[in-house]
Amino acid sequence: MTFTGDLLIIGNGAMALSTALAFSARHPAAQVMVISDRKAPDDIETAYVVDLRRLQGDCQSSAAPSFFTEARRIICDDRELRHCLFTRGEVFALVKGDAKSTKILEEKKATLGLDDQKSASKILPSPESIRSILSISNAEDLERPGHTTSRWQEAIFDKNAAIVDLNQLLLILFHRCQARSNIAFKFGVDIEHPIISDNVFKGVVLKEGSQITAQTTVLVDAQICQKLMGLSPWVRITGHDTTWLKPSESVLRKYKDIPVLTNLSTCFTVFPPVNGEFKCTLKLNDYGDGNAPGIDSCPWSLTPSTEREIRRNLAEILPEAADQPFSRSRLEWAMTTESRSGFIARNSQMDGLFIATLPTTLEPQAICLGAKAVDLIDQVATSSLSQKWSLSDTNTAPKSTPGLHKPIIIVGAGVFGLTTALHLAQRGYKNVTILDREAYDQTGYTSSAASADRNKIIRASYGKQKLYERLAFKSLDSWEKWNSDVRNASELPDSLHFSDRLWDNCGFVRAGELSGLDPQETATQDGFPEALKDTQYRLTDESRKRDAQMNDINPTKLDPFNRLQRGLGWDGILDGTGGYVAADKSCSWVLHLCQKLGVQIRLGDQYTFKEFIRDGDKIIGVQTGLDGTSFPADLVIVAAGGWTPSIVPEVADLLQTTAGSVAKIQLPPQNERPDLWKKYSSSEFPCWSWRLTGSKMQGTEVGGIYGFPRTQDGLIKIGFRGTKWTNMAYSNAEGRLISYPTSAHGLPNKALDNIREFCKENMPDLVGLPLATRLCWYTDSVDSNFLVDRVPGTEGLMVASGGSGHAFKFLPVLGEHVVDIVERIETDYTNLFKWRDPSAAGQKARFNTPSGNWPELKRDDLSGSW
Ligand SMILES: Cc1cc2nc3c(=O)[nH]c(=O)nc-3n(C[C@H](O)[C@H](O)[C@H](O)COP(=O)(O)OP(=O)(O)OC[C@H]3O[C@@H](n4cnc5c(N)ncnc54)[C@H](O)[C@@H]3O)c2cc1C
Repeated sequence: MTFTGDLLIIGNGAMALSTALAFSARHPAAQVMVISDRKAPDDIETAYVVDLRRLQGDCQSSAAPSFFTEARRIICDDRELRHCLFTRGEVFALVKGDAKSTKILEEKKATLGLDDQKSASKILPSPESIRSILSISNAEDLERPGHTTSRWQEAIFDKNAAIVDLNQLLLILFHRCQARSNIAFKFGVDIEHPIISDNVFKGVVLKEGSQITAQTTVLVDAQICQKLMGLSPWVRITGHDTTWLKPSESVLRKYKDIPVLTNLSTCFTVFPPVNGEFKCTLKLNDYGDGNAPGIDSCPWSLTPSTEREIRRNLAEILPEAADQPFSRSRLEWAMTTESRSGFIARNSQMDGLFIATLPTTLEPQAICLGAKAVDLIDQVATSSLSQKWSLSDTNTAPKSTPGLHKPIIIVGAGVFGLTTALHLAQRGYKNVTILDREAYDQTGYTSSAASADRNKIIRASYGKQKLYERLAFKSLDSWEKWNSDVRNASELPDSLHFSDRLWDNCGFVRAGELSGLDPQETATQDGFPEALKDTQYRLTDESRKRDAQMNDINPTKLDPFNRLQRGLGWDGILDGTGGYVAADKSCSWVLHLCQKLGVQIRLGDQYTFKEFIRDGDKIIGVQTGLDGTSFPADLVIVAAGGWTPSIVPEVADLLQTTAGSVAKIQLPPQNERPDLWKKYSSSEFPCWSWRLTGSKMQGTEVGGIYGFPRTQDGLIKIGFRGTKWTNMAYSNAEGRLISYPTSAHGLPNKALDNIREFCKENMPDLVGLPLATRLCWYTDSVDSNFLVDRVPGTEGLMVASGGSGHAFKFLPVLGEHVVDIVERIETDYTNLFKWRDPSAAGQKARFNTPSGNWPELKRDDLSGSW
């Protein structure tokens, strides 16, 4: 069969159907074809089952609330559709001290207008409010000592929240489409490849051999968007545990009027009963890797631990339902976009192609969005629509140079190189190669590079630097997610195990012996998001200490060195949002993700950058290794950390390579000293810093020092950055002497003195234990902001560097901004990271520290023992 028509729609969800209906109504003479790899909505085997979805407006798109209202109005005004809508309201609750869900609740409050003092009374405390909403007569159940509901710190009730029976809604739309003579359907298709000629999307060839072509194509199905257009950065498909509880008549009667109940902290939702069943979803685990298989091909049932978790959650809120039988369970595949908003846009690289796809959670809103997609196709009010309702509120697929298939070479597989490669691949770039001279795939990230380390501190404490604070919080969400992704991954590199946790939210104590907070900490505390202030504990505040205890925080975390009891000075903050990540394992994980997304990875000595291949002023590739293997490229991104100034001499006034000092202390075997293993475990001992901010230590002062809980193998890392050292031993291509990493062993005596003196006073049980040392190479920028930009005057060359001692935490998210620069998209971040005039940027403040330049490393001043 060959179809040639006016509009081809790929997908058969609410968005596809409402687009087909809107187009067919507006263009009665046009021919519309809707194709899908799924079965027809009224297929006998998939016959109608109730499937409830929220109708919600709280996504990040500025347009979402108005579309929510419009969708709701359309459904309510429609005689048939109105039966799909249930308005019961929704309770959102959270468990005390849970930073992530506090943030979500805070966002919800803002959406509901509950975030000001005036309306604070609408915020319902738990458990009384929950009881009243649930109309639970058996109040003792909730008041029983130890009843878990009492853990709920806060709950809000959104009385307008509505749910929709999506299957019913789809069926109605499908029947309406069938009733139109100009809409045809083809289900169960398998697309072989798209037909693209002269940069015009013409249609698709099916595996069975037939072609479907049309003037215009709209991609709706998320998986096909991923497959055909490489939209994986925005479009992720993951599975969640979903089950339907079929309780006895009496339990059903008791809970028949409940609203939707969501515990944000445990990611659990139970919906009101429809057709005698309660739908329960548990979104604790993300299954799949963002490229899930179709629902039909997934054999699945609840695991015992998931079932336990669901029943535990039910026991908190609907105690009598907790032991009732489940009627069916499945992994429910959901599409999400990074911004949680939908995407209706013209493809800017190809004529004839539109993308109109929505996160699964917003699918009911499609009822009003089909018409908007047709507006865009017909070029009616396009600009306001694409501004309002598009991916990340930015534009569609990559805009300009280099095109998706043009070669991009990244030099360096540290944080900057990895995050860049990951985000390029996620945004659909197909020809990305990352080169590093270290064979990280075999060594599991050990080298003198800054990223190749055991652990790094994660914090969002950035004083007045709100852009970094925001980025850090965004990153925290991804670290959480990566923990669960590792747990559920179908395969892992050798250096990672499914039981590994990349990120440990063990808390971060920033302290000193003087009372009071330093200006940076004061600014951090003053500006910290309201919703998260509860996670910040002043170390000397008795009432906050009690709060910490109530929140199950081990008291040792507030004074890990037992200073107060010993009458020693101690003040500062325990930051409950902080902790550490396993740096080496995290890099291996991202390398693995890149590999899976098709990034070509070339590691080892033979891939050491040798020189650029030039065509006049333009860089057109790089040569590596001694034999000079060529890698042609449209764009070369140098992300070589402390080696960047030696490769790109233009950065010499903006970046400086300095050595930081790291000591690793090995605890005796656990069976010999279980006390030390317990004391320094992350459940009892936090990350810490001692007089770190403004931390150039004078003379013999002890400070500028930080440390970690023990690793799984009993290593305790302590770092000193009160002084950094340069190694002015390299003459760059311009003949200028610059600082360059050296592989010298040992640490400068000043660093060791600091570490020793600090340990003597605060962790005497570590002094004398086996010690390993490492110089770790920072790439400091003149103003501590990262440097990510094109190199002025040299076409085809970018740098992504200048981590300035704080970039690791951004590994999951930083690349997004690097790719924005590749695509010449201007944002607050691209401005923050852009090439700048070194004198204006404060070179004096940075390179020339108050008492002059950082000192030079002297070989005869290095030592490797206590
Ligand atoms: C001591 C120390 C402690 C830190 N602590 C923290 C922390 O707690 N939290 C935090 O968020 N950040 C921290 N940072 C900062 C963070 O680690 C860095 O900002 C980040 O790792 C820098 O990554 P990068 O990709 O720029 O450089 P690197 O990690 O140095 O990577 C550069 C890569 O380029 C490769 N390369 C170099 N030359 C060549 C060549 N010629 N050819 C091929 N490949 C080459 C190297 O082998 C290396 O793999 C710390 C940094 C240091 C030094």
